[in-house]
Amino acid sequence: MREFALRPEQSRGRRFPEPLHRYRNDYQRDRDRILHSRAFRRLEDKTQVFTTRFSDHFRNRLTHTIEVAQISRTVAGLMGLNVDLVEALALVHDIGHPPFGHSGEKCLNQIMQSFGDRFDHNLHALRIVESFEQRYADFPGLNLTFEVREGIVKHSRDYSPGDHPELAEYLLEQRPPLEAQLIDLTDEIAYDTADLDDGFEAKLFDLGTLREELSPFREFHDEVERRYPNAVPKLQFNETLKRLFDRLVTDLLENSLAQIEQSGVSSVEQVRQHPHRLIGFSPEAKPQNRIIREFLHRNLYSHPALVPEKEQGAQVVERLFQFYLDHPEKLPPWYAEQARQGLRHRVICDYIAGMTDHYVQRLHQELLGATQPALDSGNSG
Ligand code: MG
Repeated sequence: MREFALRPEQSRGRRFPEPLHRYRNDYQRDRDRILHSRAFRRLEDKTQVFTTRFSDHFRNRLTHTIEVAQISRTVAGLMGLNVDLVEALALVHDIGHPPFGHSGEKCLNQIMQSFGDRFDHNLHALRIVESFEQRYADFPGLNLTFEVREGIVKHSRDYSPGDHPELAEYLLEQRPPLEAQLIDLTDEIAYDTADLDDGFEAKLFDLGTLREELSPFREFHDEVERRYPNAVPKLQFNETLKRLFDRLVTDLLENSLAQIEQSGVSSVEQVRQHPHRLIGFSPEAKPQNRIIREFLHRNLYSHPALVPEKEQGAQVVERLFQFYLDHPEKLPPWYAEQARQGLRHRVICDYIAGMTDHYVQRLHQELLGATQPALDSGNSG
C-alpha cells in the first residue's frame, strides 16, 4: 500500500526523549506546544504587509498564519497526509519573522552582513523552538520532533549542505516530506489572495487596475458581473477573489496528486529521495501565479503609501541594534550573559528579531528617547 503520510510512531523523535502522552500523539503535542508558545502569541503584533496604521482588520502575521493552517488542513486531509503535522508546520512557519515584515528582515540581514553573518527567518525560527522558548523544566526550547524541526528548516527553500554544515542533521540532500512541501505553496496562496484583498480594501488599487493587469482576475470578474449584476463592487470583488482562491487551491491539490501518481513514489522515504519536490501548481497555474506576484509587487509591495512606515521601521531596528552594540549591558540579563560569552551581534539580532512591532518601538523610545519620524496620516482610515 502507498503510504505518504508521516506517522508519529515512525518519527525520528525528539532531541530529549519523552514518554508518550496518554491521549495525544507526538505531532499533536508539537502543534499544541507551538500554539502555547510566546513566539506564536507575538505573531499578533507583527506586520504581515500592512501595519495597524492602515486598518485593524487587515492581516497580521497571526491571522495570516491561521489562514495558512486552514488551507493546509483542507489540502492535507484530501491528499491523505498527516493533518496534525501539517497544522503544526503551518502554525510555526512564520514565528521566525522579525518586527516590521520584510523591511525589518532586510534591515537585520544587512546589519548582520556587515559582520560577515546573515539573518534568515527560517533559521531564526529553528533557534526559537530549540533555545529561546523557555517553558519546560526538563529541556530548553519546545523539544519538537525531528519532522517539525526539519519542516521549519526546509519548507520554503533548500539549504546547501556545504554552506550549512550546522544543519547536517536535517538531511539537506533530501527533499522534505510532503507535509513540509505543502506549507510553502499554501503560504503563497494565503498571502497572494490576502494581499489582493487588503490592498483593494486599502484602495491602493481599484477594480479597473485589477481587470486591466490581472487576467485571471478579469476572467472571474466577468463571470461574477454576469451572475450578480446588481451587487455592489466590493461584493463583486469578494466573489471574484473567492473564485481565484478556489482555483489556486484546487489546482495545487489536483496537480500535486497527479505528480505523485506519475512519479511512482510509494513511501515517505521515496518522497525524500525523489529528485524534485512533488507538491506544486500545474504548468497552467504557474504563469497565473507569476502574474499575481508581479501585480502585487507593482501595485502593493512597492506602493509609495507604504514607504514611510517601512523606512521608519528599518530606522528603529538599525538604531536599536547600534545602541545594544554600544551598550550590551543594557540587554536583559539572559541576553547580556550570552553576549559576554559569544558573538555580540548574533545575540542582539536574536533579541530584536523576537520583538513585536510595538515592543521594538517602545524600547526605541525608552532607550534612545527618540521622537519617531512623523508619518503621513493620509491613509490611516
Ligand atoms: Mg507566511
